[in-house]
Amino acid sequence: MKFATRTIHAGQPSEPETGALVAPIFQTSTYEQESPGQDKGFSYSRTNNPTRQRLETVLAELEGVPYAAAFASGLAAENAVLQAYLRPGDEVIIPLDVYGGTYRILNKVYQPIGVVTKQIDTGDLKAVEAALSARTRLVWIESPTNPRLLISDIAAISKLAHARKGSQVDGKSSLGDRTLVVVDNTFATPCFQQPFELGADIVVHSVTKYLAGHSDTVQGAALAKEAAVFEPIKFLQNATGAVPSPFDCWLTMRGLKTLELRMQRHEENALAIAKALNGHALVHRVYFPGLASHPGHDIARRQMTGFGGMVSFELDGTLEEVIAFASSRRYFTLAESLGGVKSLLCHPATMTHASIPAEARAELGLSDTLLRLSPGCENAEDLVEDLLAGLAEVASARASRKPVGATAR
Ligand SMILES: *Cc1c(COP(=O)(O)O)cnc(C)c1O
Repeated sequence: MKFATRTIHAGQPSEPETGALVAPIFQTSTYEQESPGQDKGFSYSRTNNPTRQRLETVLAELEGVPYAAAFASGLAAENAVLQAYLRPGDEVIIPLDVYGGTYRILNKVYQPIGVVTKQIDTGDLKAVEAALSARTRLVWIESPTNPRLLISDIAAISKLAHARKGSQVDGKSSLGDRTLVVVDNTFATPCFQQPFELGADIVVHSVTKYLAGHSDTVQGAALAKEAAVFEPIKFLQNATGAVPSPFDCWLTMRGLKTLELRMQRHEENALAIAKALNGHALVHRVYFPGLASHPGHDIARRQMTGFGGMVSFELDGTLEEVIAFASSRRYFTLAESLGGVKSLLCHPATMTHASIPAEARAELGLSDTLLRLSPGCENAEDLVEDLLAGLAEVASARASRKPVGATAR
């Protein structure tokens, strides 16, 4: 089955009892047992639920591995992975541009219990090699990153992590001291990037974004290709209980059926916008991996089958101008999150990345004039026109404020 066929057919047969083309939502907390301990594979919906199980089957098929666990949010999925593998004294390597929530959970939840976070430029393989130590338990990769869409070489990093002395699979022990590579595949989705083929051990998703795709549910997932790697994550899904509701799982399955169609449109729209903004007088810099000028362009071409649907740019103006631009777009709703059919725009410094202190943001290159766009599935010309109109408004507001006799800069 090719990718688009899998999104529609994998794990989604017609309902056996009635022939219903779309499986019902199994909105139940518990299941009848024939005699004590004799159930039909379902005993309680925190542990397992038929609707959730179907979603997990589809997600696993899309990432090309046997194991997936669905969670109540992307961060709940991340937490299961962190909790499964990090103990006091262990080290985790994360990218500079890592998702703000990942930064926060590591620094506010795991660092106080003795986990060491090394935040480095994972685009620099020498830096990765230097950061790896005998205590490195996880190498956390996000590619493209959020919000600057920087690219890391997943295959090369996986090779380095797995070659670390003491990290090799020895065939006898289950996991030993292995360094595991985790890829947050939220931005690329399995439609454009298959991390397991590149060497990843674990993939996490904010299903909330492109996978569900309609900005109507919050969910997450963690996947693995080896049973031994998956088992502790699956255990925590039940033991700590951050599971999604059957209805939310059903919504995601509905959304997934159009994943490829949507991703193609998101990418087309992102490219049209990147081209329109690139070189504009009021745009300082455009971040889109599909532009040949993007520093990660070559690696992205090698490891992705599409460049994704996100575009970020730095407006060449004051914070006031950036805020005016962001607050008055016709089609880009000012909101956190991304990946839905309706276009969104966000100002990371005051919104998604506000939990990172200002000095740390500056060090990470997260400018206060950076705007992140999540083009939806609208018409590309409408979206471009809306953005260019916004830039024209900035220019005319500037001109009208200019004192008489002042010269243009
Ligand atoms: C949104 C997001 C998360 C967190 O997912 P939630 O569903 O919001 O908990 C993690 N990683 C990335 C890249 C994200 O964009």
